[in-house]
Amino acid sequence: MERAPTPAAALAAARALPKVVLHEHLDGALRIGTLLELLRERGIAAPAADEAAMASWLDGNAHAGSLERFLEGFALTVAAMATPAALARVAREAAEDALADGAVLAEFRIAPLLFEPFGLPADDAVQALLDGLAQCPALPSGLIVCAMRHLPPGETVRAARLALRFAGRSPGGPAGPRVVAFDLAGAERGHPPAEHAEALALVRHAGLPMTLHAGEADAAERVLEAAQHGARRIGHGVALAQALADPARQHVVDEVRALGLHLEVCPTSNVHTGAAPSIARHPIVSLWRAGVSLSVHTDNPLFSRTSMSAEMAALLEHTLLVPADLLAMTRQAAMASFLGNAAREAALRRIDAAIELLAAPAGNGARRPSRRLSPTAAASAAASSKATPAR
Ligand SMILES: [Zn+2]
Repeated sequence: MERAPTPAAALAAARALPKVVLHEHLDGALRIGTLLELLRERGIAAPAADEAAMASWLDGNAHAGSLERFLEGFALTVAAMATPAALARVAREAAEDALADGAVLAEFRIAPLLFEPFGLPADDAVQALLDGLAQCPALPSGLIVCAMRHLPPGETVRAARLALRFAGRSPGGPAGPRVVAFDLAGAERGHPPAEHAEALALVRHAGLPMTLHAGEADAAERVLEAAQHGARRIGHGVALAQALADPARQHVVDEVRALGLHLEVCPTSNVHTGAAPSIARHPIVSLWRAGVSLSVHTDNPLFSRTSMSAEMAALLEHTLLVPADLLAMTRQAAMASFLGNAAREAALRRIDAAIELLAAPAGNGARRPSRRLSPTAAASAAASSKATPAR
């Protein structure tokens, strides 16, 4: 068995892979320098004076081991971002950073109603974010509107109506960024999807896709509940590993597979919020081995001090996953994207080219015939590769 790659080799391998961003919160994705500048511009006291001190403050918050504590950082970023110009800048920079990190397609998310207490109407917030994404035309992107699940259900209905108002609108023409889906974010435990059934029914009946945070801080069964309310993708879903390990609850994982749900897994975030013990013991490996459709994401790059490449590198370094697994996951992510067919097909072509390159024997310049992997075949190919790990 080969040894695990060094951190530098893992990062180099991860950087070379194409990425599909499905789960990244814009209010958790600011550059540190931008956050400091925006706080200064708005006359808000920063918890640290410079980028290095701010990085340590963020590290301290990240390692508190609690979702609630983790969410506190958002109060700061939301206050800093509460102008149309700041929102457009943050969205543009997030898209540029994702593109520089190898993204071929990206969906970013945020809860626009959070800006209302700062005097910024939610419609203006969404328009500014779409304008910002449109300023990075090289990356096909879209916006997911979140509602905060701890707020009263009426607020979620307002967020749903906001999402529906923007679902067909794009500042960059038919192919430009638009609102592509709806999500419930925030503290999961104690706030199941059923609490927001009215809003979710509105979204479902209008045909706007849904991805819901579920099975992060609460039980595996919440994932199926989210699906019953219309979710086609699940934010996190890592609690499914508990059902996988319990013969009496394996039907939950069977149903997730049968429904074709796709999990947006955010390994480092899960460690920081206590949803997973470590990267080495993260449930992504057992869920992948079980043939669940899933992919790797950042959640909040600012708060978790991470990136798509850093997430993938950590998995290559600390688990049995190999680049072929990550590419197969990325392919599933592209298939599960809510962007239009053209963007999805273009992303799939880039990913398939990378799969073909990886499958080619090294050294002799000859390539094997292209092996296009369907999502199911990708999962089973990856699952079978686990029987004889590559290292
Ligand atoms: Zn999230």
